[in-house]
Amino acid sequence: MRRGSVRFVLIHHGACRGGAFHYRIGGDGSCTAELHETERGQHPRSIGVAVEGDFDAAVPSAVQVHALKQLLLELKLRYPELELGAHRQVRGGVPTTCPGRRFPMRALREWFREDLLRERDAVLRRQFEAQYSKI
Ligand SMILES: [Zn+2]
Repeated sequence: MRRGSVRFVLIHHGACRGGAFHYRIGGDGSCTAELHETERGQHPRSIGVAVEGDFDAAVPSAVQVHALKQLLLELKLRYPELELGAHRQVRGGVPTTCPGRRFPMRALREWFREDLLRERDAVLRRQFEAQYSKI
């Protein structure tokens, strides 16, 4: 998978049976890489992130959501065109509720569209200012 071909980050939950994720957010908020970003995961042109848990039955914890947002910020800095999706939005696959009926996908999408961009711009501004202080 070439760097320029990554278009989506797709969110899954631990109960997903599709397999092959690039990152997994643990119950304690840890983030583990399971595939290299250049490898194909469950879906083409996308980076798959599984959040541990069954979110048809429960909601993710605050530490998990925080860790997920940190990862999404890092990915957005590396892939500026990146868009956010839920596994269940992928057309043509086996019907699924993934990442779960109770996963706060709508709130995450709103955060991704607005707050994430502000946080990204703040990071870029800090990096820019850090470069200039060295001159
Ligand atoms: Zn899934």
